Amino acid sequence: MDRSVEGKRVTIVGFGRSGAAAAKLALAKGAREVIMQDKRDAVELGDDKVLELARAGIRPELGGHRVQTLVDSDVVVLSPGVPKLEAVDAAEKKGIPVVSEVELASWFIRGEFIGITGTNGKSTVTALTGEIVKASGVPTFTGGNLGVPLSEAVGTPAADEGGAIVVELSSYQLERTYTLRMRVAVLLNVTPDHLDRYGTLPAYAAAKQRIFLSQTSKDFAVVPAFDPLMVAMAAAGGGVVQTYGGPNGDVRVDGDAIVDRWGARYPRSLLKIRGTHNVENAMASILAARLLGVQEGATRDGLSSFDGLPHRMQFVADDDGIAYFNDSKATNVAASVKALEGVDDGRRVVLIAGGRDKGGSYGPMRPLLEKKGRALVLVGEATELMKAQLEDLVPVRQADDMFDAVRIARSCARKGDVVLLAPACSSLDMFENYEERGRVFSAAVKALAGTSRQEEDLSS
Ligand code: ADP
Repeated sequence: MDRSVEGKRVTIVGFGRSGAAAAKLALAKGAREVIMQDKRDAVELGDDKVLELARAGIRPELGGHRVQTLVDSDVVVLSPGVPKLEAVDAAEKKGIPVVSEVELASWFIRGEFIGITGTNGKSTVTALTGEIVKASGVPTFTGGNLGVPLSEAVGTPAADEGGAIVVELSSYQLERTYTLRMRVAVLLNVTPDHLDRYGTLPAYAAAKQRIFLSQTSKDFAVVPAFDPLMVAMAAAGGGVVQTYGGPNGDVRVDGDAIVDRWGARYPRSLLKIRGTHNVENAMASILAARLLGVQEGATRDGLSSFDGLPHRMQFVADDDGIAYFNDSKATNVAASVKALEGVDDGRRVVLIAGGRDKGGSYGPMRPLLEKKGRALVLVGEATELMKAQLEDLVPVRQADDMFDAVRIARSCARKGDVVLLAPACSSLDMFENYEERGRVFSAAVKALAGTSRQEEDLSS
Protein backbone atom coordinates (compact mmCIF):
# COMPACT_ATOMS: atom_id res chain seq x y z
CA MET A 1 0.00 0.00 0.00
CA ASP A 2 1.29 3.44 -0.93
CA ARG A 3 1.30 5.25 2.42
CA SER A 4 0.94 8.74 1.03
CA VAL A 5 -1.76 11.26 0.11
CA GLU A 6 0.45 13.69 -1.78
CA GLY A 7 -1.20 14.98 -4.93
CA LYS A 8 -4.19 12.70 -4.35
CA ARG A 9 -7.91 13.18 -4.17
CA VAL A 10 -8.96 12.01 -0.72
CA THR A 11 -12.56 11.50 0.38
CA ILE A 12 -13.39 11.18 4.07
CA VAL A 13 -16.62 9.36 4.92
CA GLY A 14 -18.24 10.43 8.18
CA PHE A 15 -17.90 13.86 9.72
CA GLY A 16 -17.14 13.23 13.37
CA ARG A 17 -14.15 14.43 15.33
CA SER A 18 -11.91 11.70 13.82
CA GLY A 19 -13.18 12.40 10.30
CA ALA A 20 -12.52 16.12 10.62
CA ALA A 21 -9.03 15.44 12.02
CA ALA A 22 -8.30 13.05 9.14
CA ALA A 23 -9.46 15.63 6.58
CA LYS A 24 -7.17 18.30 8.02
CA LEU A 25 -4.29 15.83 8.15
CA ALA A 26 -4.74 14.81 4.51
CA LEU A 27 -4.71 18.45 3.48
CA ALA A 28 -1.61 19.19 5.55
CA LYS A 29 0.16 16.22 3.96
CA GLY A 30 -0.31 17.53 0.44
CA ALA A 31 -3.56 16.02 -0.83
CA ARG A 32 -4.69 17.72 -4.05
CA GLU A 33 -8.32 17.76 -2.93
CA VAL A 34 -10.08 16.69 0.25
CA ILE A 35 -13.80 15.99 0.29
CA MET A 36 -15.88 15.32 3.39
CA GLN A 37 -18.98 13.18 2.93
CA ASP A 38 -21.74 12.69 5.43
CA LYS A 39 -25.30 11.48 5.17
CA ARG A 40 -26.42 14.32 7.42
CA ASP A 41 -26.91 17.78 5.93
CA ALA A 42 -25.45 21.09 7.06
CA VAL A 43 -28.41 21.84 9.34
CA GLU A 44 -28.09 18.50 11.15
CA LEU A 45 -24.32 18.84 11.43
CA GLY A 46 -24.35 22.50 12.41
CA ASP A 47 -23.60 25.28 9.94
CA ASP A 48 -20.67 26.60 11.91
CA LYS A 49 -18.85 23.27 11.82
CA VAL A 50 -19.37 22.93 8.08
CA LEU A 51 -18.21 26.49 7.52
CA GLU A 52 -15.06 25.86 9.51
CA LEU A 53 -14.32 22.86 7.32
CA ALA A 54 -14.86 24.82 4.13
CA ARG A 55 -12.65 27.64 5.40
CA ALA A 56 -9.89 25.10 5.98
CA GLY A 57 -10.10 24.18 2.29
CA ILE A 58 -12.09 20.96 2.65
CA ARG A 59 -15.05 20.45 0.31
CA PRO A 60 -18.18 19.35 2.19
CA GLU A 61 -20.47 16.94 0.33
CA LEU A 62 -23.42 16.44 2.59
CA GLY A 63 -26.85 14.84 2.66
CA GLY A 64 -25.75 11.45 1.24
CA HIS A 65 -22.86 9.37 -0.09
CA ARG A 66 -22.38 10.07 -3.80
CA VAL A 67 -20.93 7.00 -5.51
CA GLN A 68 -19.24 9.00 -8.26
CA THR A 69 -17.18 11.00 -5.78
CA LEU A 70 -15.97 7.84 -4.09
CA VAL A 71 -15.06 5.98 -7.27
CA ASP A 72 -13.21 9.08 -8.54
CA SER A 73 -11.07 9.27 -5.37
CA ASP A 74 -7.50 8.02 -4.98
CA VAL A 75 -7.98 7.20 -1.28
CA VAL A 76 -11.14 6.83 0.82
CA VAL A 77 -10.91 7.25 4.60
CA LEU A 78 -13.66 5.84 6.82
CA SER A 79 -14.51 7.36 10.17
CA PRO A 80 -15.08 4.80 12.94
CA GLY A 81 -18.64 3.52 13.21
CA VAL A 82 -19.64 4.27 9.62
CA PRO A 83 -21.99 1.41 8.67
CA LYS A 84 -21.59 -0.73 5.56
CA LEU A 85 -22.30 1.49 2.54
CA GLU A 86 -22.87 0.44 -1.06
CA ALA A 87 -21.04 3.53 -2.28
CA VAL A 88 -17.92 2.52 -0.34
CA ASP A 89 -18.17 -1.05 -1.62
CA ALA A 90 -18.27 0.31 -5.16
CA ALA A 91 -15.03 2.23 -4.60
CA GLU A 92 -13.36 -0.82 -3.09
CA LYS A 93 -14.45 -2.98 -6.02
CA LYS A 94 -12.71 -0.53 -8.32
CA GLY A 95 -9.49 -1.11 -6.38
CA ILE A 96 -9.43 2.22 -4.55
CA PRO A 97 -7.77 1.91 -1.13
CA VAL A 98 -10.36 2.30 1.62
CA VAL A 99 -8.67 2.82 4.98
CA SER A 100 -9.68 3.69 8.50
CA GLU A 101 -8.73 6.97 10.13
CA VAL A 102 -6.10 5.27 12.33
CA GLU A 103 -4.47 3.63 9.29
CA LEU A 104 -4.18 7.03 7.58
CA ALA A 105 -2.73 8.65 10.71
CA SER A 106 -0.16 5.87 11.14
CA TRP A 107 1.39 6.72 7.76
CA PHE A 108 2.77 9.90 9.33
CA ILE A 109 3.90 8.56 12.69
CA ARG A 110 7.45 7.40 13.51
CA GLY A 111 6.95 6.95 17.27
CA GLU A 112 6.43 3.45 18.64
CA PHE A 113 2.90 2.20 19.13
CA ILE A 114 1.25 0.53 22.06
CA GLY A 115 -2.26 -0.38 20.87
CA ILE A 116 -5.03 -1.56 23.17
CA THR A 117 -8.25 -3.32 22.24
CA GLY A 118 -10.84 -5.60 23.87
CA THR A 119 -14.53 -5.47 24.73
CA ASN A 120 -14.06 -3.99 28.21
CA GLY A 121 -11.22 -2.13 29.89
CA LYS A 122 -9.73 -0.45 26.81
CA SER A 123 -10.00 3.13 28.03
CA THR A 124 -8.72 2.34 31.51
CA VAL A 125 -5.71 0.41 30.21
CA THR A 126 -4.97 3.07 27.59
CA ALA A 127 -5.09 5.92 30.11
CA LEU A 128 -3.03 4.01 32.69
CA THR A 129 -0.43 2.84 30.17
CA GLY A 130 -0.19 6.41 28.86
CA GLU A 131 0.40 7.66 32.41
CA ILE A 132 3.19 5.12 32.98
CA VAL A 133 4.94 5.78 29.67
CA LYS A 134 4.68 9.53 30.22
CA ALA A 135 6.28 9.12 33.65
CA SER A 136 9.35 7.69 31.89
CA GLY A 137 9.94 11.09 30.28
CA VAL A 138 9.35 9.92 26.70
CA PRO A 139 7.10 12.27 24.67
CA THR A 140 3.78 10.43 24.80
CA PHE A 141 0.44 10.66 23.03
CA THR A 142 -2.53 8.98 24.69
CA GLY A 143 -5.77 8.79 22.75
CA GLY A 144 -7.47 7.19 19.76
CA ASN A 145 -10.95 5.88 20.48
CA LEU A 146 -10.59 7.56 23.87
CA GLY A 147 -10.31 11.33 23.70
CA VAL A 148 -8.13 12.79 20.98
CA PRO A 149 -8.17 11.12 17.51
CA LEU A 150 -4.90 9.58 16.38
CA SER A 151 -4.73 11.99 13.43
CA GLU A 152 -4.20 14.80 15.93
CA ALA A 153 -1.04 13.10 17.22
CA VAL A 154 0.69 13.75 13.90
CA GLY A 155 3.11 16.62 14.18
CA THR A 156 3.51 16.33 17.97
CA PRO A 157 6.84 15.17 19.51
CA ALA A 158 5.25 11.81 20.38
CA ALA A 159 4.85 11.07 16.67
CA ASP A 160 8.57 11.59 16.00
CA GLU A 161 11.29 8.98 16.25
CA GLY A 162 11.78 8.19 19.96
CA GLY A 163 8.19 9.12 20.90
CA ALA A 164 5.46 6.81 22.14
CA ILE A 165 1.89 6.51 20.92
CA VAL A 166 -0.53 4.80 23.31
CA VAL A 167 -3.73 4.29 21.38
CA GLU A 168 -7.11 2.78 22.18
CA LEU A 169 -8.45 0.88 19.19
CA SER A 170 -12.11 -0.15 18.88
CA SER A 171 -13.11 -2.98 16.58
CA TYR A 172 -14.55 -0.35 14.23
CA GLN A 173 -11.20 1.39 14.00
CA LEU A 174 -9.34 -1.86 13.41
CA GLU A 175 -11.47 -2.68 10.41
CA ARG A 176 -9.69 -1.48 7.30
CA THR A 177 -6.26 -1.25 8.83
CA TYR A 178 -3.53 -2.76 6.66
CA THR A 179 -0.08 -1.44 7.54
CA LEU A 180 -0.79 -0.17 11.07
CA ARG A 181 1.87 -1.95 13.12
CA MET A 182 1.96 -2.17 16.90
CA ARG A 183 5.25 -2.58 18.71
CA VAL A 184 3.07 -3.79 21.59
CA ALA A 185 -0.49 -4.93 20.87
CA VAL A 186 -2.77 -5.61 23.84
CA LEU A 187 -5.98 -7.64 23.54
CA LEU A 188 -7.84 -7.65 26.87
CA ASN A 189 -10.94 -9.78 26.30
CA VAL A 190 -13.72 -10.53 23.84
CA THR A 191 -17.26 -10.96 25.14
CA PRO A 192 -20.59 -10.46 23.33
CA ASP A 193 -21.13 -6.82 22.31
CA HIS A 194 -21.89 -4.95 19.06
CA LEU A 195 -23.48 -8.08 17.61
CA ASP A 196 -25.98 -5.80 15.88
CA ARG A 197 -23.12 -4.81 13.58
CA TYR A 198 -21.06 -7.98 13.33
CA GLY A 199 -23.77 -10.64 13.42
CA THR A 200 -21.61 -13.25 15.15
CA LEU A 201 -19.04 -13.34 17.93
CA PRO A 202 -16.33 -14.80 15.62
CA ALA A 203 -16.83 -11.92 13.17
CA TYR A 204 -16.48 -9.39 16.00
CA ALA A 205 -13.42 -11.24 17.35
CA ALA A 206 -11.84 -11.23 13.88
CA ALA A 207 -12.04 -7.42 13.76
CA LYS A 208 -10.27 -7.25 17.12
CA GLN A 209 -7.62 -9.74 16.04
CA ARG A 210 -6.48 -7.26 13.39
CA ILE A 211 -4.51 -5.53 16.15
CA PHE A 212 -1.89 -8.28 15.68
CA LEU A 213 -1.78 -7.69 11.93
CA SER A 214 1.60 -6.61 10.56
CA GLN A 215 3.43 -7.53 13.77
CA THR A 216 6.87 -9.10 13.34
CA SER A 217 9.11 -11.13 15.64
CA LYS A 218 10.44 -7.84 17.04
CA ASP A 219 6.97 -6.94 18.34
CA PHE A 220 4.92 -8.16 21.29
CA ALA A 221 1.36 -9.46 21.57
CA VAL A 222 0.01 -9.04 25.12
CA VAL A 223 -2.96 -11.14 26.31
CA PRO A 224 -4.36 -12.53 29.59
CA ALA A 225 -2.81 -15.89 30.51
CA PHE A 226 -6.18 -17.00 31.93
CA ASP A 227 -8.06 -16.66 28.65
CA PRO A 228 -7.05 -19.41 26.19
CA LEU A 229 -9.02 -17.83 23.35
CA MET A 230 -7.08 -14.56 23.66
CA VAL A 231 -3.79 -16.48 23.79
CA ALA A 232 -4.75 -18.40 20.64
CA MET A 233 -5.73 -15.19 18.85
CA ALA A 234 -2.36 -13.64 19.72
CA ALA A 235 -0.43 -16.76 18.72
CA ALA A 236 -1.89 -16.50 15.22
CA GLY A 237 -0.04 -13.18 14.71
CA GLY A 238 3.65 -12.58 14.04
CA GLY A 239 4.59 -11.03 17.41
CA VAL A 240 6.09 -12.64 20.51
CA VAL A 241 3.23 -13.58 22.86
CA GLN A 242 3.51 -12.21 26.42
CA THR A 243 0.91 -12.89 29.09
CA TYR A 244 -0.37 -11.37 32.32
CA GLY A 245 -2.27 -12.96 35.19
CA GLY A 246 -2.52 -16.65 36.08
CA PRO A 247 0.22 -18.45 37.99
CA ASN A 248 2.85 -18.11 35.24
CA GLY A 249 2.11 -14.81 33.51
CA ASP A 250 5.00 -12.49 32.62
CA VAL A 251 3.27 -10.09 35.00
CA ARG A 252 1.20 -11.69 37.76
CA VAL A 253 -0.17 -11.32 41.26
CA ASP A 254 2.04 -12.62 44.05
CA GLY A 255 0.51 -12.19 47.50
CA ASP A 256 -0.28 -8.53 48.00
CA ALA A 257 1.84 -7.34 45.08
CA ILE A 258 1.98 -7.42 41.32
CA VAL A 259 5.32 -8.78 40.11
CA ASP A 260 6.89 -8.69 36.67
CA ARG A 261 9.35 -11.03 35.00
CA TRP A 262 12.12 -8.46 35.33
CA GLY A 263 11.96 -8.87 39.11
CA ALA A 264 10.04 -5.70 40.07
CA ARG A 265 7.31 -5.73 42.75
CA TYR A 266 4.45 -3.25 42.83
CA PRO A 267 2.36 -3.39 46.03
CA ARG A 268 -1.36 -3.51 45.23
CA SER A 269 -1.82 -0.63 47.64
CA LEU A 270 -0.15 1.62 45.03
CA LEU A 271 -3.29 1.38 42.91
CA LYS A 272 -6.05 3.90 43.41
CA ILE A 273 -8.37 2.07 41.00
CA ARG A 274 -10.46 -0.64 42.61
CA GLY A 275 -11.65 -4.12 41.81
CA THR A 276 -10.09 -7.32 40.54
CA HIS A 277 -10.65 -6.25 36.94
CA ASN A 278 -8.50 -3.21 37.61
CA VAL A 279 -5.71 -5.43 38.93
CA GLU A 280 -5.93 -7.22 35.57
CA ASN A 281 -5.92 -3.87 33.80
CA ALA A 282 -2.88 -2.73 35.79
CA MET A 283 -1.03 -5.94 34.91
CA ALA A 284 -1.75 -5.38 31.21
CA SER A 285 -0.48 -1.80 31.45
CA ILE A 286 2.67 -2.75 33.36
CA LEU A 287 3.53 -5.45 30.83
CA ALA A 288 2.91 -3.21 27.82
CA ALA A 289 4.96 -0.34 29.24
CA ARG A 290 7.83 -2.57 30.39
CA LEU A 291 7.99 -4.21 26.94
CA LEU A 292 8.41 -0.74 25.46
CA GLY A 293 11.40 -0.27 27.77
CA VAL A 294 9.89 1.74 30.64
CA GLN A 295 11.88 1.26 33.87
CA GLU A 296 10.53 0.06 37.21
CA GLY A 297 10.58 3.50 38.89
CA ALA A 298 8.53 5.21 36.20
CA THR A 299 6.12 2.28 36.15
CA ARG A 300 5.60 2.68 39.87
CA ASP A 301 5.11 6.46 39.52
CA GLY A 302 2.52 6.02 36.76
CA LEU A 303 0.63 3.36 38.69
CA SER A 304 0.42 5.43 41.83
CA SER A 305 -0.56 8.69 40.16
CA PHE A 306 -3.43 7.25 38.10
CA ASP A 307 -6.80 8.24 39.59
CA GLY A 308 -8.93 6.21 37.20
CA LEU A 309 -11.33 7.54 34.61
CA PRO A 310 -14.70 9.05 35.46
CA HIS A 311 -17.73 6.73 35.32
CA ARG A 312 -15.61 3.59 35.90
CA MET A 313 -15.90 2.49 39.53
CA GLN A 314 -15.63 6.15 40.42
CA PHE A 315 -16.03 6.91 44.09
CA VAL A 316 -18.72 9.57 44.46
CA ALA A 317 -19.37 10.03 48.18
CA ASP A 318 -19.55 8.42 51.57
CA ASP A 319 -22.76 9.39 53.32
CA ASP A 320 -24.10 8.02 56.58
CA GLY A 321 -21.68 5.06 56.34
CA ILE A 322 -22.75 4.15 52.81
CA ALA A 323 -20.29 4.41 49.90
CA TYR A 324 -21.56 5.39 46.47
CA PHE A 325 -19.79 4.29 43.28
CA ASN A 326 -20.49 5.31 39.70
CA ASP A 327 -19.76 2.66 37.06
CA SER A 328 -22.10 4.07 34.42
CA LYS A 329 -19.67 2.79 31.78
CA ALA A 330 -20.80 -0.76 32.62
CA THR A 331 -23.04 -0.80 29.55
CA ASN A 332 -23.00 -4.58 29.14
CA VAL A 333 -23.49 -7.58 31.41
CA ALA A 334 -19.80 -8.62 31.56
CA ALA A 335 -18.83 -5.12 32.73
CA SER A 336 -21.51 -5.11 35.46
CA VAL A 337 -20.28 -8.46 36.70
CA LYS A 338 -16.77 -7.02 37.00
CA ALA A 339 -18.12 -4.01 38.85
CA LEU A 340 -19.92 -6.27 41.35
CA GLU A 341 -16.78 -8.36 41.75
CA GLY A 342 -14.91 -5.16 42.44
CA VAL A 343 -16.85 -4.43 45.61
CA ASP A 344 -14.83 -5.53 48.64
CA ASP A 345 -15.79 -8.95 49.90
CA GLY A 346 -17.96 -8.75 52.96
CA ARG A 347 -19.78 -5.60 51.84
CA ARG A 348 -23.33 -5.79 50.60
CA VAL A 349 -24.41 -3.96 47.46
CA VAL A 350 -27.51 -2.08 46.50
CA LEU A 351 -27.21 -2.23 42.71
CA ILE A 352 -28.84 0.35 40.46
CA ALA A 353 -29.22 -1.14 36.99
CA GLY A 354 -31.29 -1.02 33.81
CA GLY A 355 -31.58 1.09 30.71
CA ARG A 356 -31.81 -0.12 27.12
CA ASP A 357 -31.54 -3.90 26.82
CA LYS A 358 -28.92 -5.29 24.40
CA GLY A 359 -30.44 -8.68 23.80
CA GLY A 360 -28.27 -10.91 26.02
CA SER A 361 -28.95 -12.74 29.27
CA TYR A 362 -28.61 -11.17 32.72
CA GLY A 363 -27.82 -14.65 34.08
CA PRO A 364 -24.07 -13.99 34.59
CA MET A 365 -24.99 -11.43 37.28
CA ARG A 366 -26.87 -13.97 39.39
CA PRO A 367 -24.05 -15.51 41.49
CA LEU A 368 -22.72 -12.10 42.55
CA LEU A 369 -26.15 -10.67 43.31
CA GLU A 370 -26.87 -13.74 45.38
CA LYS A 371 -23.57 -13.39 47.26
CA LYS A 372 -23.36 -9.62 47.70
CA GLY A 373 -26.76 -8.16 46.81
CA ARG A 374 -28.74 -6.22 49.40
CA ALA A 375 -31.31 -5.02 46.88
CA LEU A 376 -31.70 -4.28 43.18
CA VAL A 377 -33.13 -0.97 42.03
CA LEU A 378 -34.25 -0.99 38.40
CA VAL A 379 -34.82 1.98 36.13
CA GLY A 380 -35.49 2.27 32.39
CA GLU A 381 -36.74 0.08 29.54
CA ALA A 382 -35.16 -3.21 30.61
CA THR A 383 -36.87 -3.20 34.00
CA GLU A 384 -39.34 -6.03 33.37
CA LEU A 385 -36.78 -8.25 31.64
CA MET A 386 -34.24 -7.84 34.39
CA LYS A 387 -36.81 -8.26 37.10
CA ALA A 388 -37.98 -11.56 35.63
CA GLN A 389 -34.43 -12.91 35.56
CA LEU A 390 -33.22 -11.67 38.93
CA GLU A 391 -36.08 -11.08 41.38
CA ASP A 392 -35.83 -14.48 43.05
CA LEU A 393 -32.40 -13.48 44.42
CA VAL A 394 -32.80 -10.06 46.03
CA PRO A 395 -35.59 -7.59 46.82
CA VAL A 396 -36.30 -5.59 43.66
CA ARG A 397 -37.56 -2.00 43.61
CA GLN A 398 -38.60 -0.02 40.55
CA ALA A 399 -37.68 3.63 40.10
CA ASP A 400 -39.13 6.33 37.84
CA ASP A 401 -35.86 8.05 37.07
CA MET A 402 -32.25 8.19 38.25
CA PHE A 403 -32.97 10.57 41.11
CA ASP A 404 -35.72 8.28 42.34
CA ALA A 405 -33.37 5.29 41.95
CA VAL A 406 -30.76 6.91 44.19
CA ARG A 407 -33.41 7.84 46.74
CA ILE A 408 -34.73 4.27 46.85
CA ALA A 409 -31.21 2.75 46.90
CA ARG A 410 -30.34 4.95 49.86
CA SER A 411 -33.30 3.69 51.83
CA CYS A 412 -32.50 0.05 50.99
CA ALA A 413 -28.85 0.38 52.08
CA ARG A 414 -27.52 -0.32 55.56
CA LYS A 415 -24.44 1.29 57.14
CA GLY A 416 -21.32 -0.30 55.60
CA ASP A 417 -23.07 -1.07 52.29
CA VAL A 418 -22.15 0.10 48.82
CA VAL A 419 -24.61 1.71 46.43
CA LEU A 420 -23.35 0.91 42.94
CA LEU A 421 -24.54 2.20 39.58
CA ALA A 422 -23.51 -0.53 37.09
CA PRO A 423 -26.45 -0.69 34.69
CA ALA A 424 -25.58 -3.68 32.39
CA CYS A 425 -27.53 -1.77 29.71
CA SER A 426 -26.97 1.15 27.41
CA SER A 427 -28.12 4.57 28.60
CA LEU A 428 -29.83 5.57 25.37
CA ASP A 429 -33.42 5.12 26.56
CA MET A 430 -33.10 7.95 29.07
CA PHE A 431 -29.82 9.77 28.50
CA GLU A 432 -27.62 11.21 25.77
CA ASN A 433 -24.82 8.79 26.72
CA TYR A 434 -23.27 6.94 29.66
CA GLU A 435 -21.48 10.09 30.78
CA GLU A 436 -24.73 11.97 31.25
CA ARG A 437 -26.21 8.99 33.13
CA GLY A 438 -23.19 8.97 35.46
CA ARG A 439 -23.36 12.72 36.01
CA VAL A 440 -27.05 12.59 36.92
CA PHE A 441 -26.36 9.71 39.33
CA SER A 442 -23.51 11.61 41.00
CA ALA A 443 -25.58 14.79 41.21
CA ALA A 444 -28.45 12.90 42.85
CA VAL A 445 -26.07 11.28 45.37
CA LYS A 446 -24.63 14.67 46.28
CA ALA A 447 -28.04 16.34 46.47
CA LEU A 448 -29.33 13.71 48.88
CA ALA A 449 -26.16 13.45 50.98
CA GLY A 450 -26.68 14.71 54.51
CA THR A 451 -30.48 14.64 54.29
CA SER A 452 -32.28 12.30 56.65
CA ARG A 453 -32.46 8.67 55.59
CA GLN A 454 -35.29 6.26 56.40
CA GLU A 455 -34.28 2.60 56.15
CA GLU A 456 -36.80 0.56 54.26
CA ASP A 457 -37.94 -2.83 55.52
CA LEU A 458 -36.62 -5.22 52.86
CA SER A 459 -38.21 -8.35 54.23
CA SER A 460 -41.54 -7.55 52.59
P1 ADP B 1 -13.86 0.30 27.33
O1 ADP B 1 -13.11 1.49 26.87
O2 ADP B 1 -13.38 -0.97 26.69
O3 ADP B 1 -15.35 0.43 27.31
P2 ADP B 1 -13.45 1.02 30.13
O4 ADP B 1 -12.09 1.07 30.70
O5 ADP B 1 -14.11 2.30 29.81
O6 ADP B 1 -13.43 0.08 28.86
O7 ADP B 1 -14.36 0.18 31.11
C1 ADP B 1 -15.73 -0.09 30.76
C2 ADP B 1 -16.39 -0.94 31.81
O8 ADP B 1 -15.91 -2.26 31.71
C3 ADP B 1 -16.08 -0.48 33.22
O9 ADP B 1 -17.15 0.25 33.68
C4 ADP B 1 -15.89 -1.74 34.03
O10 ADP B 1 -17.09 -2.08 34.69
C5 ADP B 1 -15.62 -2.82 32.99
N1 ADP B 1 -14.22 -3.28 32.90
C6 ADP B 1 -13.10 -2.55 33.00
N2 ADP B 1 -12.01 -3.32 32.84
C7 ADP B 1 -12.45 -4.57 32.61
C8 ADP B 1 -11.81 -5.82 32.35
N3 ADP B 1 -10.49 -5.94 32.31
N4 ADP B 1 -12.60 -6.90 32.15
C9 ADP B 1 -13.94 -6.80 32.18
N5 ADP B 1 -14.60 -5.66 32.45
C10 ADP B 1 -13.87 -4.55 32.65
